[in-house]
Amino acid sequence: MRDLFTSFKDNCGFGLLASIDNTPSHKNLEDAVTALSRMMHRGAVAADGKSGDGSGLLLSMPNKFMRKIEELYQDKNYCIKCGSKLEIKKDRENKIRAICPNCNHIVYLNPIPASACLIVNEKNEVLIIKRKFEPNPGEWALPSGYIEIDETPEEAAVAEMKEETGLDGEVIQFLDYYSGYSPIYEKVISFGFLMRILGGTLKAGDDAAEAKFVSFEKLPPLAFDSHNHYINLYKNRSNK
Ligand SMILES: [Zn+2]
Repeated sequence: MRDLFTSFKDNCGFGLLASIDNTPSHKNLEDAVTALSRMMHRGAVAADGKSGDGSGLLLSMPNKFMRKIEELYQDKNYCIKCGSKLEIKKDRENKIRAICPNCNHIVYLNPIPASACLIVNEKNEVLIIKRKFEPNPGEWALPSGYIEIDETPEEAAVAEMKEETGLDGEVIQFLDYYSGYSPIYEKVISFGFLMRILGGTLKAGDDAAEAKFVSFEKLPPLAFDSHNHYINLYKNRSNK
């Protein structure tokens, strides 16, 4: 079949079924991408957006995705400005939102920003806390929390470090950000910081059940992928 791909290059209007019974087939998809990459027509290569020539892949209608967006707005019932019942419909940009029919207030759902602290002591042990509250109570994590409206990500990291571990600290370095799933907010963007201890006494704060240093080898599973990401980054750098 692959020999057929080269003969398609001058055809206009090329289609390839990459989904059967709504189940995308990996093999079909690979064949389709290979075919498209060999086409010399505009659309497949260097589309100019004017001629109308083109080709593309429709795997399946993104119904699941569309339903998901609607579900996200299902608990947005009333306008926070005027109290009217919100309607879930498309906005000017064709995106589904909860919109107030009375005052036109639009509810935007955005990822929630959070900061996480990677704190390593002189014995090369990392500070972890056992979470007390949602999300993931009872699980271990790096000290972390949501960024308040009047805080920078760095200030939030310093504040969370103090609140959860009793230690005063400062940011040494921004490690990376991580965009991940949240069971509460659907999406959280976490900022990871390497922190230096300036003082204080290690003691689990009000929103942590425990706080302790452990070696990287003895790290228990952590509640958040973002925290694993920062730890892996740090370990990879230290090993170089
Ligand atoms: Zn309103």
